[in-house]
Amino acid sequence: MIPFISQLPESEQIIWIAALNQALPDETIVGSADMTLADKKQCQLAIVANPNPEHLAGFENLIWLHSIWAGVEYLMTTLAESPIEIVRLIDPMLSQTMAEAVLAWSLYLHRDMPRYAKQQSNKYWLQHQYLPASERRIGILGLGELGQESAKQLKQNGFNVMGWSRNEKSLANITTYSGEHGLAEMLTQSDILVCLLPLTPVTKGLINQQLLAKLPKGSAVINFARGAIINTDDLLNALNSQHINHAVLDVFEHEPLSENSELWQHPDITILPHISAPTNLNSACKIVAKNIIQFRQSGQLPVCVDKKTGY
Ligand code: NAP
Repeated sequence: MIPFISQLPESEQIIWIAALNQALPDETIVGSADMTLADKKQCQLAIVANPNPEHLAGFENLIWLHSIWAGVEYLMTTLAESPIEIVRLIDPMLSQTMAEAVLAWSLYLHRDMPRYAKQQSNKYWLQHQYLPASERRIGILGLGELGQESAKQLKQNGFNVMGWSRNEKSLANITTYSGEHGLAEMLTQSDILVCLLPLTPVTKGLINQQLLAKLPKGSAVINFARGAIINTDDLLNALNSQHINHAVLDVFEHEPLSENSELWQHPDITILPHISAPTNLNSACKIVAKNIIQFRQSGQLPVCVDKKTGY
């Protein structure tokens, strides 16, 4: 028996449990609420979607959790000190979905869509200079599963692409940077800055006044990672002083974004309701199933989150 532990609405839980049972015909996946204490004690692993920590009680013999989401900061807040290993979703389909979103919103900024939309609302006819994609420099913060696929997609569409990661990387046709100096070097050249970093104690508030000041005047920011990586007040100041031209925000410190948030009405912010890369039920279930079958056969765990770095 494998528990499915989540805070999803009942209707969504039912869909996930049915799809997981279909992908794992030799296992029985059940909602944790339907398990007895004796059942819980038998479990070595669980499938989770941001579980309420209280719902993990009683699972005394858990070795690992498989999350159906890619981001693990919520799990890290509850399980950082626990010996239970965390496995996150690494799904090429998710990376492609994110890369498509990064391309779509980079094109939106590259082709000046926010500016022309403003002109239309004022019935104002003015043509601005066209810049070829090869001259548009896009810097990506984070070159992991999502960042690398996004960099590749942008490159295939002709953009001048750079990326920054914690460890040095070498990627075909992408200029890569690491470390503090590398970050500063990339920022000064980024017309569009795309954030695809995990939220960790180090990245929290990383996009602040000092970082934004290093970007060229008139540049734009896309945040598809986690809201708390940006210092919102600093971003608003940078937008209001017109140092930053536009921001596309898909993620926020508190979601859904409060009705009272001033971000909604800001003329230079595009708000998206956390839609850049939703988990795909079918491909996620296949990946979870593959990892669990491998564990049952060999006792080997998939790649786990490094609790020291937080991702
Ligand atoms: P990942 O594979 O773990 O990659 C993270 C990247 O960030 C790596 O390149 C890592 O560097 C870099 N990094 C981490 N800490 C750093 C630091 N302090 N300085 C410099 N670079 C640092 O993660 P992923 O799968 O690409 O996902 C990234 C994030 O996207 C997730 O954590 C999640 O929050 C978010 N996400 C959002 C959505 C959405 O719909 N909006 C959907 C899925 C995921 P190294 O390569 O050197 O380790």
